[in-house]
Amino acid sequence: MPAKIIDGTAIANGIRAQIKSDLEEYIKNNADSRPGIAVLLVGDRKDSATYVRMKNKVALELGFYKKIRQFNNDPKIHGILVQLPLPKHLNEERVLSEVSLEKDIDGFHPINIGNLAMKGRKPTFVPCTPKGCIELLDRTGVEIAGKNAVILGRSNIVGIPISLLLLHRNATVTICHSQTKDVEQKVKQADIIVAACGQPEYIKGDWIKPGAVVIDVGINPVDDSTKKVGYRLVGDVNYKEALEVAGSVTPVPGGVGPMTIAMLMQNTFESFKNKQ
Ligand code: NDP
Repeated sequence: MPAKIIDGTAIANGIRAQIKSDLEEYIKNNADSRPGIAVLLVGDRKDSATYVRMKNKVALELGFYKKIRQFNNDPKIHGILVQLPLPKHLNEERVLSEVSLEKDIDGFHPINIGNLAMKGRKPTFVPCTPKGCIELLDRTGVEIAGKNAVILGRSNIVGIPISLLLLHRNATVTICHSQTKDVEQKVKQADIIVAACGQPEYIKGDWIKPGAVVIDVGINPVDDSTKKVGYRLVGDVNYKEALEVAGSVTPVPGGVGPMTIAMLMQNTFESFKNKQ
């Protein structure tokens, strides 16, 4: 039986609609009050500009408004985003530490990450892509506790936080990275696979245990002359092969990507409510 496709777009649309209606209810009696996001985009990376354009589009749609300036003290701004990676001459750790904790809607402030890493602590905000992955698992009824979860990637923004979230939910977590020996054998043990290694279609169908849940975070452009833009986007998993063997799988695009943006809106709305 082919795998169930986890429709991230539909789930994210539902979450966004819910936020929109909650927000409308919330601001009924206070027409001047709106959640606001400030986005800091430094440099001219084309992929960063695309992400920001997508975020702007959704933010505007939800009635949020944004400013491309740092406004820790601006009461109209409830979330501050620093688009990563920063140009090399900037110190990422120092820049992220400058964002006030209660506006750190990306959850990348070292204190937020530290609290995420510790047992019994609660970060103010959880990073959006990892939070979106957990939301996809929860909303498709996947049991996490006791499962073998294998994560490919150990970046600060995806691999490490998703590993911590799954560990907090009582999965047994294996983290693979570029130095891991025999990744295939590790993946074969997984009940839940989270692929975030940025390697196009790296995980093959025959690496996947029948019935496993596959969350594909990867977004990789590969040349495709049949497309007007000259490329198409693929994940870190061979999607066609995964469909044949997995229990459920997220497509790329239309899986984790839309959830990242929905979680960003959720974090912003939380921050807004905290300030009322
Ligand atoms: P990074 O490049 O920062 O990290 C990649 C990670 O994968 C590293 O930890 C690296 O190991 C590891 N890795 C590389 N090769 C292998 C391999 N063969 N086997 C196992 N692990 C490997 O990427 P990001 O975490 O920022 O992003 C990962 C992917 O997710 C990208 O395709 C990106 O575009 C996508 N992405 C998607 C988002 C979404 O909303 N859907 C949001 C953010 C990212 P090492 O540490 O040893 O170098």
